[in-house]
This record gives sequence, structure tokens and C-alpha cells, in this order.
Amino acid sequence: MKTQAIVTSRPVVSISAERVTQPRTVEQLITGQATTDGDGVKLTRVLTQGLQKRLDPFLMLDAFGADDPQDYIGGFPDHPHRGFETITYMLTGRMRHHDSAGNEGLLQNGGVQWMTAGRGVIHSELPEQEDGRMEGFQLWLNLAGKDKMIAPWYKDLQSETIPEFTTSEGATVRVIAGGSHGVAGAVQRELTEPLYLDLHLADGAVFSQQLAASMNAFVYVYRGELEIGDASVPQQRMAILNNDPSSDGVTLRAKGASRALLIAGQPLREPIVQYGPFVMNTQAEVQQAISDFRAGKLVN
Ligand code: FE
Repeated sequence: MKTQAIVTSRPVVSISAERVTQPRTVEQLITGQATTDGDGVKLTRVLTQGLQKRLDPFLMLDAFGADDPQDYIGGFPDHPHRGFETITYMLTGRMRHHDSAGNEGLLQNGGVQWMTAGRGVIHSELPEQEDGRMEGFQLWLNLAGKDKMIAPWYKDLQSETIPEFTTSEGATVRVIAGGSHGVAGAVQRELTEPLYLDLHLADGAVFSQQLAASMNAFVYVYRGELEIGDASVPQQRMAILNNDPSSDGVTLRAKGASRALLIAGQPLREPIVQYGPFVMNTQAEVQQAISDFRAGKLVN
């Protein structure tokens, strides 16, 4: 694929083509489940608990998008987490975050909040708007057993700090984590090596991304429609990509102007035991998390 950088207000980044000769195919299309979480926030759970093993190291993907404040105004009051990372990507809207480690931040329009819960935090995520649209995603990324009890970590990434490039084929790519076309993302992680791209594709644009065959990968289309191999992936569907050992990546083609998340990572291959906001390797560890929370030990 021939690519070149296009000058924007951002620093010009030089990009190198990613050649994919054996693209992955679509294994399954998933329709998310409508649900509510927090204090009555309406959302679609795209990656549900039943897919955690298949999409290891990812535990959850929620898509939220509402024009009516009644559907989001309650937000997510104080609640705990232990054992994984939460990555919140706000397309539109303003959400204020507070946590027990003393962090506070405003997540807004195009920004990302990356939080490593580690051994535990209690936090709130509350809308800082009373009207207008709120739209975005929350992804949960598992931690290896040896890292589940690390100190919590937190970073607010304002929109303008997220690396971005545009290809000559009409793809604008925001690199939230991992790397694409030689452009390093805002966050890197060992072990799970998460790749998190937000793709904005013009009608007919083709985008290829190399992926190690060992990675689990999926695409969530949130505007328009994509073709992956001979499968069509309509809006609000997640395509789970096949893990063919001979594949070297994925190639997407936009049918009309489209936007999608491309997410991939190295599986941890460890037992996953989830109880609500705690994700550990064993029942005993989950019980410990619950009793630590009740004893007030998740406050750092
Ligand atoms: Fe949370």
C-alpha cells in the first residue's frame, strides 16, 4: 500500500506502508446487548463476558451514545476496580473523573483516559454537561496475574496529544495504543501489546494493518459500513477476526464514509474470574477483592 503523510496542524509524521498479503477473515459478527450501568447510563455492551476467553486479553467493550441527558446524566458514581485496566475514549461530551488515588481529570471530545486499576481504586465518572450528545467507548484490558496487584496508574490523554496520521488512500488513523504504519501510539504495554486504532475512512478507502497471527483482534464499526474480505460489517456490529496462523494482518474497505475501532492484543491465556468490577485469576482472589473493598482497603 502506498502511503504518504498529509500536513495538518499536528507535527508531520512520516509513515511507512504496512503490507498485508494474507488478510484475516471475519469469524463472527456480534450485535451488542443494550443494558444500563452506573446510575442508569444507557449503553451497548459489545464485548460481553461470554467473549472474554475468545478475545483475551480484552474483557469488555461498551459503546455509549445518547442525545437525551436522561440516558447519561447519572454517570458512574463511586465504584471500585481491581485486576485490569480501563480505557475510556470520549468522542463527544465531557466527563469528570475522580479517584481514591487522588487523581482528577476532565475527559472530553476526542480524549482518552487510561486507568490501571491494579490492586484497586475507587473512582467516579460523572458527566460535566447537562445537555447535548455524549458518545464514546470503554474498553477493559486484562492484566497478567503477576501484575494484578500493581499500584494504580492513571493518565488523561487530551485529543491533541493522540498521534494521528492520514494515508493517501483516505484513511485518518488515531493511534491510541500500540503502533501503526511506524507511528507509535499514546500508550504502550508489554505482554498484552494492545493495539487500539480509531479509523476514519473516506468512501472506498482501504486500510491495512499488520497483526501478529497470535493476536486476538476485532473491529467495531460505529459509523457507515466496512468490507473485510468478503464479509460486510454494518454499523454497530463487531467483527471478530479469525486467527489463521498464516495471516499477517487485516485489510478493511469502507462502503461510504465510515468510522471504526480496530483493537488487537496478545492473549494472556490465564483463567479469568470476574465478579462485577473485579477481574482476577481465581475465586479466592475475587473473594479477597470483595473483602478488601468492604474493609476500605481499595482506597490508596
Ligand atoms: Fe469505572
